[in-house]
Amino acid sequence: MTKFIFVTGGVLSSLGKGITAASVGALLKHSGKNVGMLKIDPYINVDPGTMSPLEHGEVFVTKDGAETDLDIGNYERFLDSSYLKTSNFTTGQVYSSVIERERSGGYLGQTIQVVPHIVGEIVDRIKKAGKGHDILVVELGGTVGDIEGLPFMEAIRLMKHDDDVEGTFFIHVTLIPYIKAAGEHKSKPTQHGIQELRRIGITPQMIIARSEKALPKAFKKKLSVSCDVASDSVIEALDAPTIYGVPLAFMQQNILTPIAKELELGELTPDMEQWDALVKKIVSPKEKVTIGFVGKYLELKESYKSLTEALIHSGAHQDMRVEIEWIDSEKLENRSDEEVAELLNECDGILVAGGFGSRGIEGKINAIKYARENKVTYFGICLGMQLTLVEYARNVLGIEDANSIEFDENTTNPIIYLIDNFLDQAGDSQLRTHNSPMGGTLRLGEYPCETKDGSLIQQAHNGEKLINERHRHRYEANPTYRKQLEDAGMIVTGESNGLIECVEIKDHPWFLGVQFHPEFTSHLQTPSPSISAFVKAAFENSKH
Ligand code: GLN
Repeated sequence: MTKFIFVTGGVLSSLGKGITAASVGALLKHSGKNVGMLKIDPYINVDPGTMSPLEHGEVFVTKDGAETDLDIGNYERFLDSSYLKTSNFTTGQVYSSVIERERSGGYLGQTIQVVPHIVGEIVDRIKKAGKGHDILVVELGGTVGDIEGLPFMEAIRLMKHDDDVEGTFFIHVTLIPYIKAAGEHKSKPTQHGIQELRRIGITPQMIIARSEKALPKAFKKKLSVSCDVASDSVIEALDAPTIYGVPLAFMQQNILTPIAKELELGELTPDMEQWDALVKKIVSPKEKVTIGFVGKYLELKESYKSLTEALIHSGAHQDMRVEIEWIDSEKLENRSDEEVAELLNECDGILVAGGFGSRGIEGKINAIKYARENKVTYFGICLGMQLTLVEYARNVLGIEDANSIEFDENTTNPIIYLIDNFLDQAGDSQLRTHNSPMGGTLRLGEYPCETKDGSLIQQAHNGEKLINERHRHRYEANPTYRKQLEDAGMIVTGESNGLIECVEIKDHPWFLGVQFHPEFTSHLQTPSPSISAFVKAAFENSKH
């Protein structure tokens, strides 16, 4: 049977509930427990797949091809694990399945209501996510008091009394404002948040108090008394120099002691030695390398969360600070080669990230041309690889109108095109057209890729011939142009079932484009091999 830890949030959003849940999960995992993670999103979208990255941040893709909240990425990075579709669900999914069952007569004539049907579906999904784990850490998105969060609160309240549930523990993440003029921390917003929780029937057993300034002992005592939480269960969470420092800060405050006591987990002593060493290297590394990150969703850096974290992981293992120079791809458009060189001059490596839509495309192509011609270490990911082919076709093969049909449907030279029929992960045939619905019709999840002997990608993966990486894209490299590209010096170094997955070029120290997203499988303890190789090459080939 599974034990459940529920993480709720109060006062306001963006308090780091995801990092809190991931940190608690990591400490339990490092104590030898089998830990599952679940994020519940109370919004109505079925999944975040159709949301703008500027609205929601990155869409994280699981191994089995679900488009999920970016917190699932935090969980995988912190727990060095990979989770499945069942690790994230939304109000949209809950209602869809209940309505589907109602239409097929599954409720035998009952009136379908929020209680018990919607709440029951939520409980079932939480239990399903917990199957096979000692402990499931469940993070409830949103803030106490949100209307859309209520059925979920009711569900987690009910689970306290469920015979199939071995134990529950409620953690509440809250903000403690510090009023400078008064020189005081304030507990009132937290008290109100907890009163609201209690009104619903949930009494948190632990408070994670987010604060800019250390909490005086007397204040912690006050929180404990006024919020009815044991004094060893008020955990301070100060702004950390790196998110990976959070589990260590929690461990110092013995966060697992009250959890283990309540859930009867025995004595827990997490082994965080390797983790601690990595955090030290993140905070004060020996070396430094500068990566030019060419993207278009720069107003919300969370859009590139997995990739920026992957750079940190690679840096940690190489004792190196990976400094990101953010470059807005639109600012590289309509520029001469000299102007582009001027803008990218400080970068040891150039990274062109994934993306959708035509904004900034020509700027990315200019960045790729610069990296190729000036032999600057280059890594193109997903859209970055697609544009690597377009750039080569235009500037080396001289095909002026070479393009992806995503940006020019009528191009006579669709270097990147839409394959209308492909085999998905399960080996089933998938049909895709321009009219396919937007949601869930991308090539998603993990696929194997065969690498070519002697290639950069194979070297990065320690000589492995078969690698597995995750995907999220609609378009593919068009094999019609393969021979022409190869004759001109571009080599296909990775293939998946006949699809072009990796490209490299001759006579360049390090230049690689990949159709997959290596950042989705990068964890603090096991960084992505290809991103690590890129960072290493950028450092070694640096001209600075
Ligand atoms: N827009 C491109 C496609 O759909 C690339 C997607 C991406 O970079 N994730 O194929």
